[in-house]
Amino acid sequence: MANVKEYSVEEKLSSLLNLQKIESKLDEIQILKGELPIEVSDLEDEIQGLHARETRIEEEVNGITEFIEQKKNLIKESQALIAKYEKQSENVKNNREFEAINKEIEMQTLETKLAEKHIKDANEEISDKARLLESAKRNIATKEANLKHKKGELEKIISETEKEETEYSEMSKAAREKVEPRLLASFDRIRKNYRNGLAVVAIVRDACGGCYNAIPPQRQSEIRQRKKIIVCENCGRILVDEELQEQAKNV
Ligand SMILES: [Zn+2]
Repeated sequence: MANVKEYSVEEKLSSLLNLQKIESKLDEIQILKGELPIEVSDLEDEIQGLHARETRIEEEVNGITEFIEQKKNLIKESQALIAKYEKQSENVKNNREFEAINKEIEMQTLETKLAEKHIKDANEEISDKARLLESAKRNIATKEANLKHKKGELEKIISETEKEETEYSEMSKAAREKVEPRLLASFDRIRKNYRNGLAVVAIVRDACGGCYNAIPPQRQSEIRQRKKIIVCENCGRILVDEELQEQAKNV
């Protein structure tokens, strides 16, 4: 291992403070964007879902339309048969034949009536689907207008902060390379635990600058010696003395 550099505790703390400063800037930019990124992606998901619903309804309507066509053909066939039987009934030879033909006509008439009922029901179903489709389309239009608005807002913020964000992201990358992996992992873990994203804090009026828990004088002096990394017993944040914090501010 050629390029391993041993850092003093003071150097480690300074690197962490520097990284904290950069990450806090990036946090500020995220706060500016607020809930917009989530709202935009939620809306995009919802619109996608509505489009899928729209397609499904249209497919169902196509299925019902096909069903109606089948029933219409069935009616035509029945009517053709009825016409044929009526013609036959003009030349019947006996009563039995006459009754047999009449029975056939009766059956085909029933078939026609049943098919007509099916068509009527299917048309009602299509009307229901059309209403659903209409409401899905209206919903899509509303959500798309909302999405356009939110996207515009987000894009405005992004364009205003993009340059800064890129700069700080690159600074963060460089600053991270100066922190050893284990310490970096702790830093990121602590940051995630707190809404203000502060993992390194200074002593403020004899207390932890993160949670305001009092720090005993003996511990304060240990912190000021910068000989080891000390974390707040209450909140787990890494503690530094005021002077080191001030130095980092001016870097
Ligand atoms: Zn604390």
